[in-house]
Amino acid sequence: MKIEVVTVLPDLFKSFVHLGVVGRAIQSGKLDFDIVNLRDYAHDAHRTTDDYAYGTGIGMVMKPEPIFEMFDDYLSKHPHPWVVYPSPQGERFDQKKAFDLSKRKDVMFICGRYEGVDERVMTIVDEEISIGDFVLSGGETAVMIFVEAIARMIPGVVGKYESVENDSFYNGLLDYGHYTRPFEYRGMTVPEVLRSGDHAKIGKYLLKDALYRTMLKRPDLFLEHELTIEEKAALLELFKEMQKGC
Ligand code: SAM
Repeated sequence: MKIEVVTVLPDLFKSFVHLGVVGRAIQSGKLDFDIVNLRDYAHDAHRTTDDYAYGTGIGMVMKPEPIFEMFDDYLSKHPHPWVVYPSPQGERFDQKKAFDLSKRKDVMFICGRYEGVDERVMTIVDEEISIGDFVLSGGETAVMIFVEAIARMIPGVVGKYESVENDSFYNGLLDYGHYTRPFEYRGMTVPEVLRSGDHAKIGKYLLKDALYRTMLKRPDLFLEHELTIEEKAALLELFKEMQKGC
């Protein structure tokens, strides 16, 4: 998959593209990632990409010409990408959205700054996506969040895809609790079943833990979730255990 990020602050991505899961995805060629400096499409020596707002004069607005010209230039060399404008006014980003975006061949993110982009830019935008009901100073940090979540979904990026499938939200539940060595730390021990080597037993325990956590921490998710036959059986077992007080 291919991702382009259009920004006036390309330096923000300097370490992002080299480190962690995203860095590995890029280095292994599973993610083709490009930063486009919008200032390269400015018309003046100062490389200006913003101007005063019509009407109010309050704040600066990103000029349309550099964005449209960047886009024409891109289209002259590449097929049409899916264009996303990170915006507090967009639909809320979630795991499903990350999965849907990871299935696209080419996604371009246009990062807003100041008061945002000139409204006419919306004619080339396919989708506005928000990371939550708060206002950031720019779209770049939102894009880092989008790309982190999308990269995990690209097959081969995370060592075992199983671990992505067990992540919170993937199947509508939260992830189960994780433990590592030492077995005992400050009087706290790892649940014995996880050391049993009995994979069926471990699987059932983890499913019950995921169901329990979802009920407790995100009852909204739990109520929305359509339980599978296996989950119903695990839930019944969990209720019986709770009744016994174990
Ligand atoms: N005046 C705009 C409004 O209230 O809708 C906010 C502009 S904000 C200061 C500058 C840029 O940051 C936006 O154009 C957008 O690209 C990005 N941004 C801000 N909050 C965001 C959010 N919650 N999700 C995604 N992007 C956001």
